[in-house]
Amino acid sequence: MQKRTIKDIDVNGKRVFVRVDFNVPVKDGVVTDDTRIRAAIPTIRDLAGRGAKVILASHLGRPLKEKKKAEEAGKEFDAAKFSLAPVFARFNELVEGIEEIRETRFAVNCVGAEVSEAVNALGEGDVLLLENLRLHPGEEKNDPEFAKRLAALCDIYVNDAFGTAHRAHASTEGITHFVDTCVAGLLMEKELDYLGRVLGSPERPFVAILGGAKVSDKIPVIDSLIERKVDKLLIGGAMAYTFFKANGYTIGKSLVENDMLDRAKEIEARANSAGVELLLPTDHQVVDSVDPLNSQKTIPIDFTNAGHVGLDIGIETAAIFANALKGAKTLVWNGPMGMFEEKPFDQGTIAVAKAVAEATDNGAVSIVGGGDSVAAIKQARLEDHISHISTGGGATLEFLAGDVLPGVAALNDKNEAVV
Ligand code: ADP
Ligand code: MG
Repeated sequence: MQKRTIKDIDVNGKRVFVRVDFNVPVKDGVVTDDTRIRAAIPTIRDLAGRGAKVILASHLGRPLKEKKKAEEAGKEFDAAKFSLAPVFARFNELVEGIEEIRETRFAVNCVGAEVSEAVNALGEGDVLLLENLRLHPGEEKNDPEFAKRLAALCDIYVNDAFGTAHRAHASTEGITHFVDTCVAGLLMEKELDYLGRVLGSPERPFVAILGGAKVSDKIPVIDSLIERKVDKLLIGGAMAYTFFKANGYTIGKSLVENDMLDRAKEIEARANSAGVELLLPTDHQVVDSVDPLNSQKTIPIDFTNAGHVGLDIGIETAAIFANALKGAKTLVWNGPMGMFEEKPFDQGTIAVAKAVAEATDNGAVSIVGGGDSVAAIKQARLEDHISHISTGGGATLEFLAGDVLPGVAALNDKNEAVV
């Protein structure tokens, strides 16, 4: 890891601003999935245990965009929906009993006199959660004035919000211009270590499984994987139909991106010349109608007729894909194999999840990224059989595509002089 981390610095008695990713789903004032809050706790615990005064900052949703939408529609904007107060409540439950973390408090804003006072009142080991950063237009605009105000709150900046690191916002990038010591948190370090392996020299065989709805979303990742000469590239999900159509198959009413047909051909040709084995489904689960779902059956791809809608890979494909993962040493998976939210079209995704877990148990390093793929892993209760479940969606894809993430680039390098 080339970036300095909290392990490299002394934080005792310092005001430490930690950009966390507490952008969690909240329903009726209650957090419905606390994965991201849990994921940030090791960093907070470590800092508090070493005597830091911890300031936590995060965004939640896109309040200003929603406000504009509401105004345009002549509806009332519900600002309470974008408060981090429910997150604070859940955070308190999660850290109860952690003795390194002393007092926890919630600030009604993220800048301003009241916030400065609350920061001044912090003791060593105390934690202050600031209110939603995106209630200020300066956050997403990466306004230097707003960044400066955030920077004024602290002595040290820590970024532990990998999921937002692909955005150059005031709290992820701008602030680093006004704070000397800018380092990665433990979650950020873990993400960069695991994902970095894929971009560095992955142990082989290296197999990637891609699925999901759109080829267009995943093109940079596919390009990067081919460039890195992944040994096998397995493509399932709706994405596969663009490849089938490009090759003249009948795909019925399955999802397809007609403007990506040439791109699909090009990807196939590039994979071919790079010696990458590209596997597409051989069979799939189809229906005659989506609403209501009916006449569900599994058929070979070339039996598809004009009325069929393909919603999942078939059992033969699931077996071929599972077999292709055997003996793999590095595995990357992004995107479900079908419309897994709807049973029985979760079968292909679950089968692949199980195969990834089994390969991991047999020694592969596995990385799963993408909101829906991670949801599928959790649904199958296989979290403990995956080496690394990435907390980033877009950030993970951009990183794996080889892009530099502004929130990461902005942190101090390991060899940079300590200020
Ligand atoms: P991730 O969030 O893991 O990156 P994506 O967002 O790219 O994954 O894709 C997930 C979506 O793709 C899911 O909503 C799923 O229902 C949809 N999907 C996958 N295969 C199909 C299919 N054959 N037909 C319709 N939708 C599909
Ligand atoms: Mg998704």
